[in-house]
Amino acid sequence: MPSRDEILKAFDCINVWSRGLERAPHKPLLVLYALGQLTRDGQNLISFRDLAPKLTELLKEFGPTRTSYHPEYPFWRLQNDGVWIVDDADHLKRRSGQTDIPKRELLNNNVHAHFTDEIATSLQRDPSLLADIALRLLDGHFPTSIHQDILDAVGLELNLTETVTRRKRDPSFRGRILAAYGYSCAVCGFDVRLGSQIMGLEAAHIQWHQAGGPDEESNGLALCSLHHKAFDLGAFTIHPDRVLLVSKQAHGQQSFDDWLLKFHGHPIRPPQRESYLPASAFLDWHEREVFKRPSRELSVVG
Ligand SMILES: [Zn+2]
Repeated sequence: MPSRDEILKAFDCINVWSRGLERAPHKPLLVLYALGQLTRDGQNLISFRDLAPKLTELLKEFGPTRTSYHPEYPFWRLQNDGVWIVDDADHLKRRSGQTDIPKRELLNNNVHAHFTDEIATSLQRDPSLLADIALRLLDGHFPTSIHQDILDAVGLELNLTETVTRRKRDPSFRGRILAAYGYSCAVCGFDVRLGSQIMGLEAAHIQWHQAGGPDEESNGLALCSLHHKAFDLGAFTIHPDRVLLVSKQAHGQQSFDDWLLKFHGHPIRPPQRESYLPASAFLDWHEREVFKRPSRELSVVG
């Protein structure tokens, strides 16, 4: 039976960003989904037929915009991490010269997969181990502002204030970013205080901390909680000329117009120094890896 540390280590290996700055949320989202099913139903076995549409939705919502989505990749490749087994794997047909199994083959054969028996038993015996794995995956791949959204989407209940294994951030980043933007949201100017306390204002990384984005002013934006979450989910991005662009996928009624659409095509509020302006490299990363492309057209703005 592997020890607690050995199991944590095995899941930590999933945390490697093998392709540099390109986001790879497939395996983390699959594991979080499987952990959710295990806690909810006590069920370790997952059929690819059930998983494929759900994981595709998770990839669309929490992953970068791509021309196609591939739930079959993590379903198959997670085997390489030593935590996951695809049943009857030897009987499946590969395309010549490829190691992956085509989606169609997984669907037609109604293929099932699961965590190894040792891991499933350990997870069921020790809920804190399951929580640790989930928190490490969240911390490793997604900004804090959307952790709860992901947990809700995969049906996992965790206490996000647990700090035991969580990574420490540069505590000065928040203060420096808020000061750079005069303690107000760079999009809407929100600057409500409760007594002398600033309320609902946060320092956002443009290129995520998880993707190696530095704790520098040129990689930060002061945003109210709502605009922070919308930015981290890709509902809008900032063009290198500082103009805010809203995604075509974001929509709603009056509140959407008031809260987001009216800023479309307009420059964000500048920071106090020119050297604090968001750097193009970080904005490009956000547009490529987070923003839900394409943006709305600029000409339709009234
Ligand atoms: Zn705001």
